[in-house]
Amino acid sequence: MSESTTPFENLRSQLETASSYVDVAPDVLDRLSHPERVLETNLTIERDDGTLERFPAFRSQFNGDRGPYKGGIRYHPDVTREEVVALSGWMTYKCALVDVPFGGGKGGIVVDPAALSTAELERLTRAYGTELRPLVGEDRDIPAPDVNTGPREMNWLKDTYETLEGTTAPGSFTGKALETGGSEGRVEATGRSTVIAAREAFEYLGRNLDDATVAVQGYGNAGWISAKLAAEAGATVVAVSDSRGAIVDRDGLDPIAVKEHKDETGSVVGFADAEPFADDALLTMDVDLLIPAALENAVDAELAADVQADVISEAANGPTTPAADEVLLENEVFYVPDILANAGGVVVSYYEWVQNRQRVSWSEERVNRELEETIVAAFDALVETLESIASDDPRTAAYVIAIDRVAAAAERNGTWP
Ligand code: NAD
Repeated sequence: MSESTTPFENLRSQLETASSYVDVAPDVLDRLSHPERVLETNLTIERDDGTLERFPAFRSQFNGDRGPYKGGIRYHPDVTREEVVALSGWMTYKCALVDVPFGGGKGGIVVDPAALSTAELERLTRAYGTELRPLVGEDRDIPAPDVNTGPREMNWLKDTYETLEGTTAPGSFTGKALETGGSEGRVEATGRSTVIAAREAFEYLGRNLDDATVAVQGYGNAGWISAKLAAEAGATVVAVSDSRGAIVDRDGLDPIAVKEHKDETGSVVGFADAEPFADDALLTMDVDLLIPAALENAVDAELAADVQADVISEAANGPTTPAADEVLLENEVFYVPDILANAGGVVVSYYEWVQNRQRVSWSEERVNRELEETIVAAFDALVETLESIASDDPRTAAYVIAIDRVAAAAERNGTWP
């Protein structure tokens, strides 16, 4: 890496850049650039061999001016307090950009989940749920899945919360299994918005997604669904990667077959006749569309200089540093910022919450239709803002819209005491 800006520094820089186009006072911007509160705790569980082990864990509630805090929970050895705070800030502005009535939150546990048994993971998740109990709830803070968590963890957390509270409150967590109040379309939502956003970007540039070649970094929930839906839209997925390595096949990979291989073996590496490849080489491949769907800071300024894709649709949160943005803009690479491209996850989480509160359930067709309308409307607003601020930077345009909405809510709410 040629630079060492942290995700929180990146967030602050993105807010600072966009704020010059928004009528927001410096003291309000300062408030909106820092979390309202952060839970920092240590979870101690009994391992299967009877020994105890301690895991640091966090939950950041960044801003609640537009509604309950909302954001995922990450299990990863590199989780830090600072990373969780940045992710909770991005959630605040993402919810504002797609206009769902939520604020921003994020949580994480410093753990390598692959090193724990299922029983140990359940104990750890329930220990975390016990710490979260006073902070979360349907109208307070509504966690969701993120890296290395999914419906199983959300159900354990929901059950812990409901048991401790002596109630049922399915809307207190989203991303649950369908049988327990999960929503149709939630598992696919992040990849779906990533591909809708990419399609809109191609159309904006006078091109078509259906004849594009695609490379996807990260083959988890966001990445593999993006690959599958891009292929369904007619694009050719030529390279994918995960934390163990990348594979390439210029004739096109079958995303579903690659997923089956990953489920069987734990990695995309070794799939059929595909060639193994370096992850950085994937990011700089000569493709039309690049989808980073792994972790933050994947594309820094040095790597950005070698990016050959014409469009980037950011499935991951914070995959591109501010210095990389400058290089990409100079090289006329059009990027759809994370707070729009991957917003499908939180949009369908909102639909899940609405269904839970009303005790109804929507069809997958309705979920996908409403998601499509929301993402297309947000993309159109972004393009309009690019023109109105006379900028070529889609990230700045997205933050201009989002800061305006969060600042308006903060100012309406006022400061107390
Ligand atoms: P996941 O755990 O399902 O998958 C993560 C994938 O990234 C795995 O395949 C892992 O092997 C891979 N990976 C990790 N480090 C890598 C590296 N250096 N190079 C290549 N691959 C690497 O997680 P996810 O839910 O798909 O989340 C991925 C990204 O999408 C994160 O930035 C997350 O915050 C963002 N996101 C997820 C959701 C959601 O609903 N799950 C919503 C919005 C944003």
